[in-house]
Amino acid sequence: MIDLHTHSTASDGTLTPEALVDLAAEKSLTAIALTDHDTVAGIEPATARGQLKGVHVVPGLEISVRSLAGAMHILGYYVRVEDLKLQTHLAAWCAARQERAQRMVARLNELGYGISYASVQARAGSDSIGRPHVARALMETGAVRSVAEAFERYLRRGRPAFVPREMPEPKEGIGAIKAAGGVAVLAHPSTLGLKGEELAALVKDLKDCGLDGMEVHWSGHSASQRAVFAQLAQHLSLLETGGSDFHGDNKPGIQLGTGRRGNVRVPDSVLEKLRECAAVQAA
Ligand code: AMP
Ligand code: ZN
Ligand code: FE
Ligand code: FE
Repeated sequence: MIDLHTHSTASDGTLTPEALVDLAAEKSLTAIALTDHDTVAGIEPATARGQLKGVHVVPGLEISVRSLAGAMHILGYYVRVEDLKLQTHLAAWCAARQERAQRMVARLNELGYGISYASVQARAGSDSIGRPHVARALMETGAVRSVAEAFERYLRRGRPAFVPREMPEPKEGIGAIKAAGGVAVLAHPSTLGLKGEELAALVKDLKDCGLDGMEVHWSGHSASQRAVFAQLAQHLSLLETGGSDFHGDNKPGIQLGTGRRGNVRVPDSVLEKLRECAAVQAA
């Protein structure tokens, strides 16, 4: 079994890249993809640990691109992490994250919560600062008891401390992954809030931008959603991938490899297909 969607302390997960690989080995996973938000900072330590523990680490990332609903997430697999153009994109996207986090801190201060940007930054393990780091800083003040409560009351879209972030167009984001030799996969399609023809039309547009695959297995997907997305992927000749979206304690209830109450199970055969797709890309 494998897990193609995981986060570490290099973005908003709570396990270090090394500890994540150790957990994968304990769970007898043969491979994991490290897919931190807008950063590849965890790939090198995870890969080194993977070699020690016999876990294949797919160099990956998860980027955010614009959509009508606000944002959509695109996973990139087997990107060349040292690619200079990719590095330039990631630096710009992380700068937008930092600017946004500063504005969210200012909002929270206006609301009477005395948190500092430094305390948010201290929660982050790289330049990739996200709302879970703001949530943790807010928890420290005692204003909320959990990350989930922080999102529900203040941080999610429509709540008082939410601030939107600059994001690339899908074409630019997918292009950045592909130009770095990566395989581009639409993450958790359920979060787009689209169905039927509308969903199919959007995914077709993304395919025209270079999309290679779609995340069918995910912690938030029901069995019927999996069936719908698998059928759409087959219809559009897209790779069917999957992963838990494990974030450690920042998303309690999601287990590495198996998702929520065992609803994720990705066989090794998916990795073979992903590698074939990456090899075609590289050729
Ligand atoms: P950001 O990338 O800064 O916009 O933050 C989005 C990230 O926050 C997502 O990738 C999730 O990891 C996390 N997240 C989003 N909604 C929630 C929620 N309701 N509870 C906990 N974590 C969340
Ligand atoms: Zn996340
Ligand atoms: Fe995501
Ligand atoms: Fe994710």
